[in-house]
Order: sequence, then structure tokens, then C-alpha cells
Amino acid sequence: LATEESRATATPMMEQFIEIKANNPDSLLFYRMGDFYELFFQDAVDASRALGITLTRRGQHLGQDIPMCGVPVHAADDYLQKLIGLGFRVAVCEQIEDPAEAKKRGGKSVVKRDVVRLVTPGTITEDKLLSPFESNYLMALSRIRGGAEPTLALAWIDISTGVFRLAETAENRLLADILRIEPRELILADTLFHDPEMRPVLDVLGRVAVPQPAVLFDSATAENRITRYYGVKTLDGFGSFSRAEMAAASAAISYVEKTQFAERPPLGIPERESAASTLFIDPATRGNLELVKTLSGDRAGTLLKALDRTVTGGGARLLAERLMSPLTEPERIGTRLDSIAALAGQPSFCLDLRDVLKRVPDMPRALSRLALGRGGPRDLGSILAGLQTAGQVALLLERGTLSDELSQTLSAIRALPETVARSLGAMLSEELPLLKRDGGFLRAGADADLDEMRALRDQSRRVIAALQLQYAEETGVKALKIKYNNVLGYFIEVTALNASALTESDAAKARFIHRQTMAGAMRFTTTVLSELETKIANAADRALAIELRAFDALTAEVVAEAEAIKAAAAALSVIDVTAGLATLAEEQAYCRPVVDQSMMFAIDGGRHPVVEQALRRQAGATFVANTCDLSPQDGEGNGAIWLLTGPNMGGKSTFLRQNALIAIMAQMGSFVPATSAHIGIVDRLFSRVGASDDLARGRSTFMVEMVETAAILNQATDRSLVILDEIGRGTATFDGLSIAWAAVEHLHEANRCRGLFATHFHELTVLSEKLARLSNATMRVKEWDGDVIFLHEVGPGAADRSYGIQVARLAGLPASVVARAKDVLAKLEDADRKNPASQLIDDLPLFQVAIRREESAKAGPSKVEEALRGLNPDDMTPREAMDALYALKKQL
Ligand code: ADP
Repeated sequence: LATEESRATATPMMEQFIEIKANNPDSLLFYRMGDFYELFFQDAVDASRALGITLTRRGQHLGQDIPMCGVPVHAADDYLQKLIGLGFRVAVCEQIEDPAEAKKRGGKSVVKRDVVRLVTPGTITEDKLLSPFESNYLMALSRIRGGAEPTLALAWIDISTGVFRLAETAENRLLADILRIEPRELILADTLFHDPEMRPVLDVLGRVAVPQPAVLFDSATAENRITRYYGVKTLDGFGSFSRAEMAAASAAISYVEKTQFAERPPLGIPERESAASTLFIDPATRGNLELVKTLSGDRAGTLLKALDRTVTGGGARLLAERLMSPLTEPERIGTRLDSIAALAGQPSFCLDLRDVLKRVPDMPRALSRLALGRGGPRDLGSILAGLQTAGQVALLLERGTLSDELSQTLSAIRALPETVARSLGAMLSEELPLLKRDGGFLRAGADADLDEMRALRDQSRRVIAALQLQYAEETGVKALKIKYNNVLGYFIEVTALNASALTESDAAKARFIHRQTMAGAMRFTTTVLSELETKIANAADRALAIELRAFDALTAEVVAEAEAIKAAAAALSVIDVTAGLATLAEEQAYCRPVVDQSMMFAIDGGRHPVVEQALRRQAGATFVANTCDLSPQDGEGNGAIWLLTGPNMGGKSTFLRQNALIAIMAQMGSFVPATSAHIGIVDRLFSRVGASDDLARGRSTFMVEMVETAAILNQATDRSLVILDEIGRGTATFDGLSIAWAAVEHLHEANRCRGLFATHFHELTVLSEKLARLSNATMRVKEWDGDVIFLHEVGPGAADRSYGIQVARLAGLPASVVARAKDVLAKLEDADRKNPASQLIDDLPLFQVAIRREESAKAGPSKVEEALRGLNPDDMTPREAMDALYALKKQL
């Protein structure tokens, strides 16, 4: 498009378009023309398809029609939302001079235009484009080479709230960390983007990942760029950051600058998050456990939905964040639990707090829009309402008994300057228009000049009403009306039949000046009327100018206190989350967990938080509570593994998941669905649950299962909690049994973690004889009249049968098939009794080799390895080499 030929033959306007488009090749260009944003060429084709709007043509270029489509400016947000949702980026190009200026230049001069903003999924601020319950992160990934291992770092910013965080990460947890934060947009250097090592990560992220020029990630200039943004001399006051973290932070900031042009969103100071301080949950586990999204992508049915009793947008976002990043430090968890305990102990206080909190608007987002120059009167209104409500919350808090954390929130609210609320309260009217250019948002009495202009306007309107009466009487046309529209302004209208009264006599002709003839009516004006109109218009213009000036002043006053307002908003979110979790704990009878540095995992009366609530909604059904104890024997050493058998539909998956969820809830600092819970910090949580198909990416179910299992066996530490469901189900029986067998041994001997292992291979239960920390548990069932009844109770021991055939019968398999299956089963069981697989336990001294190798790896290099390292073959004669070889052999 941007070739010489193409420029030379274009109209001046097309020439301008082509030039601007050439600077923004990866964005759809919204090109402002009057009341529309127009799109041309391929942009028009793409956008019309994505938005379902008509594709038309405008003129020709290089002998071809130019495709065009357009969206009205007033509805642009809706279209932007759709395009951003589909992963497009949009460059908004405005007229940056008055069209009159262009006319003055004469000739073929076009109005100057330029891109004023890039709208990308990670950098939006409009309420319509944002979900109130979710953060909207832009993330930058940097990689610094040098040293043995490259350092990777992430920086993520929500410009709609100003949150800014940083963390180092590592290759093996990169994807997990990205998914934990769920950025809408991830930028990385184009060199890194094209690095084959990044392929697996980028495949998962799809369109979220966007390559950027590598200079954006230059670590040498990073500090400079960050200090410039914050207007500080040095970063010393921000804490210490690694080179990779700086590079990521400065790339994120540069990208914000690049997309926001002249505007600077008020970003908080970057906070460093250490990887070790959050519970590592790998991506497969995160998906399987349905924390914030179900496997089918819904919000209903997730843990987040079951826990969410928040009443503000900020609270909902904080809850999701805590759920996605549970802690690993008992003190910090304890701080949160103290706050919940404090509120749970004062139910009516908690209720009052929540009642007031409901009125807290989304202050951080309003603030961000105001700072970006995109705010409207309602954003000022939100700040005012937020400040007033914060004051009421503070009054309430002073009456209650507070934890340390809640006392801190009170201090943050008390630190709010009173002046801002006072100014806003004195100036803003009750009803606020959406757009500042509509005026009318300042209250009467706010400004004396404004009041005068409004009085003038209102008075003139009364004069016009009187004028209508007077003209009607004088002309004898009772139906004469004075009306207003945008094209003519004020005019006198009479029906065509009555028009003669205004046109026939000379006196009338001199007075009523004809303006327009319509199908059934004629329109006139008079000198008196147009004088009045000018007066009104002048008054309105001056009134609006006063209002706009006041708007800018109020905005400046608010933005000057951005830090205090954000801190108070964050405090309100903490109170909301705490009050919500306290309410939940009361309503669902949750208990306060004990979380410490031990290796305990003792849950009494544990329930599945999501299934329990779902059952409660169905009358008659109750959830059966179950105990799980993986604590070390005598409280010392490594934790235990339970091997869980039982029939399908017995409740194995539910039990496995509930314990994983209880660990997450405890470490995010929530009460848990149990009668008591004692959990020694879990550092990593892994689950391989159900057969989540990955067919879209062309991997078979069994392959997915093995990839996930491999990740667990390679990464779980003795502090980890591992939940494995039906490993080896996706292949032939003997294959499956062998893999499951070896996996249990590896977990027990090499990982030495706490774990739950559900299986339908009953043969595995003999392993408990050899493996000291492995116990058998089973889902109890009752047999009654040939049918099974599921008790959903976990007890010690092993299931003796699968009850698969009974379950099949319950499911409605034809009676003949059930009968035949019974016969086949009897034969197979007979064969197995003669030569059971469980005999293997005596025949197999399994796993020794692998374990010894791993232990020796831990113990350091062997003597032979040391000796080998000391040899330098280049300096040896053949004879010396031979001798060395014999010497080595002797050491074995
Ligand atoms: P499995 O994994 O053994 O096939 P599931 O965990 O899928 O069994 O549970 C089967 C059904 O039993 C589910 O519909 C679940 O709602 C119900 N269920 C499981 N555990 C319980 C429980 N403890 N109390 C009540 N119902 C339960």
C-alpha cells in the first residue's frame, strides 16, 4: 500500500490515510471523518466481517475500488469492545486541527489527522470494555542471557487500576506464572518470540502474545526509562530489582507510553513478588481444578464463584487474585485469617459493613480514566461517592474490634484528604451526564457566573414562550408554535393552511422571514426571535466553557491525590474480601485452618466447597463429609500417600479435588469447608484429574495424561501435594497397571510428597505392604439386593470389587448385556485367582535402581566421576591412557 506509485496517484486524503496506516501496520485504523470512524482497504474487509457491518466502496485507488466501512463515533465503544474481544488492535486516528484551518490553507489541503491512541486488549480503560470482576493485565516478558541459565522476568500492569507488579520466573514455571496472572496481552521481544524454545508457551497463549521490537526490552536503558516515567532521580526508593525485572518493567512502561501517546496513567510503584512466596499451581492443575473457569470455560461451577460474596468490583478482583496466587508464608496467611475471624465473630457488624460497601463505586478505574483525560462527569461522581462511602466505612470500623490488617485499612481510609470530597460535593449536581460536553453537571450555586448564564438562558426561554403566545394572538393562528432544531435553531412553525396569515399582508411579510417550506408546514423567523436565539446560544456557550474549566480543575484536584485515593480503594477491597469470606464461613459452617511449617495434612469433616453448595440447592441431598489424614507418622518426617479405590461414581474424584481445594483455600487465607484442618505449607500443588481432552492440539488423551504425569513426577518436592486420579486408564490394562505401579513407587520413594492416588487397579493395594507411608483407603458402598448404594464415605482398606457391572445396570445397559458381562467377569476372575498380578509384590524388587541413581545424584559425584574429571586425554600418551583406564576399572 505504501509504495511510491500508490502515494503518487492517491487523492490527498488517501495519501494521508496511507501514510498513517503505514505507521500502524498491525492495527485496524479508525480514521475519523465527521461523525464516523471509517476503515479502508483490508481493514474494512476484516472489520466488516468481524462486526457484521456493511462493506461499501469509496473512490478508487490504482484502478481498483477502495473497500470501506464505518462506525458512528457515538457508538464506537461497542464496536471497539467487539474487536478487542476478538483479539484485534485498533489505532484511533482523530482530526487534530479545526477543519476551518485546512480550508484557510486552501487548495486540496486535508484536515490534519493523527493517531491519538492505540487500543489493545491489555491497555483499555473504558468501563464498557472492562469486566468489573476481572483485572486487565498487560504483561511484559524479558529474558537476559549471561551466566549459565538465562534469567526470565515478568512485569504486569493494569492501567485501569494502576496495579504494577514484577517477578522473576524460570523456564519450567514460566507458563504457570503467566496463566496465574492471566494477562490479556503479553509483549515480548521479537527475537524471543521467534525462539523455538518459546514455541510451547506461545502455542498455549495464542493471540495474547504480541512481539515487539527488541529495543523495548533493552536492559541498559531500562532504569532511565522507569525513572523518567515516575519523574524520580533514582529507583532506590522502589526496592531492588534484577536486570531482567528492570527490562520487563521498562518494556511494559514503554508499551503503555506507546499506546497512550501523550497521556500518563497513574501507575503504582512496581511491587516485587517473589516466586517462592506463592503456591505454585501448574497450568494443567489450574484448569483441572476449575478455580476461576470450568473446563468448558464458564464462571458458574468454579471455586471462585462458590467463594465470592464480595459486593464491589475491586473486592471481586482482589478475591480472584488471592485465589490465583495462594501464599506460602504462614504469617501472612495468619494475618488474613485473623481478619476473617474478627469479622466472623461480629456478624451484625460485618453485615453493616457489607451494606455500606455495596455503595462503593469502582474508584481506581474512574481515577485512571480521569488521569488519562478520558474521564467524564460520572467518573468525578464515582470518586465523590467513593470518598463519602469510605468515610462511612471508617466510622463503622471505629465501632468494631479489628485485626491488625483491618486497623491498617482504617488508617488508609483516614489518610484521605477531606478537601477533594468537599470540592466535589460543593460543585457536582445530583444527576450527572455521561459526557462533559453535554454540560449540566455543576450544581446551582457552584459558580456565580454560571448561575448568571443559566438564568439568562432560562429567562430567554421564558421570553420565547411569551413570544409564541403574542404571535399566535396577533396573527390569529392559534396553532402557531415556536420550535427548535439543530439545523435551524429557533423557528416559528404554522401549518401550510395557516401560512397565509404570515405571508399575505405587507406588515406580516416584513416581520415574518421565511425559512423553510415542509410538506404540511411552513417555517419562519423574526429579528426578535433570532436576537433571542443568539443570546441563548451565547449564554449556553459561556456556561459550558465555565463548566469545562471547572471539570479540569476538579480533575486536577482528584489526580493530585491519586495515591491516597488508590490506597483507600485498596483498603476497601481488602475489607470487602474479608467481610465476604467471613460471611461465607458463617453461612457454610467453615472452620479456621491451622497453617504452619509442618508436614501435616489433617482434614476432619472435609467437604467439597462447590459440590456441597450445589447439593444444598437441591432439596433433600446432603454432602457426606470425609476425613483425610496425610500427616507424617508421629508428626515427623515425610507425609503420607493414600491409595484410594472404590467403584465408579463412588466419590473418588470429588474427594481428591476437595482436598486440593481445601489446601488452596487455606493458603489464600480463607476458612475451609471442614470441622478442623491442619495444613503444613504446600509449596506446589499438582493434580491430574479426569480425562481432559486436548484433542484440539492433536494430542491423544493418553498422551496428555502421560505429559501431565511426567510433569508431576519431575517437579513435586517433599512439600508438595499431589492428586492423581486414575493414572493409566487410557491404555491397555497391563500397560496402565505397570505405569500406575511405578508412579506410586516414584511418588513414595523419590518425590516423598503428600498425595492422594485414586485407582481402579485393585492390584496396587498390595503396595502398602512394602511402602511405609502408603495407606489404602476406599469409598464405602452397600450392596442391597444385587444393587449398589454409594455411601460416599471414605474409610480405611481396599475395595474388593469394582461394581462396574452394577453401575452399568444402573445406567440402563440392556439386561442381556449385563448378564453376559457377569459370565465373562466370572471367567476372568477365575483366571486371575490362579495367577494374580498382586503376586508381583513378591517377585519385583522394583525401583531400586532408579532410586539409587537419584540418591547418588543428590550425594554428589562418585569417586570414578571425580577421577575421570581429573584426566586430560590430550596430554596423555597411549600408554598412560591405557593405565588410567585400568585404574578406573579397579575403582568400581
Ligand atoms: P468417582 O470419581 O468415584 O467416579 P465422583 O467423585 O465423580 O465419583 O462422584 C460421583 C457422584 O457422587 C457425583 O455426582 C457427586 O456429586 C456425588 N458425590 C461424590 N462425593 C460425595 C459426597 N461426599 N457426598 C455426597 N455426594 C457425593
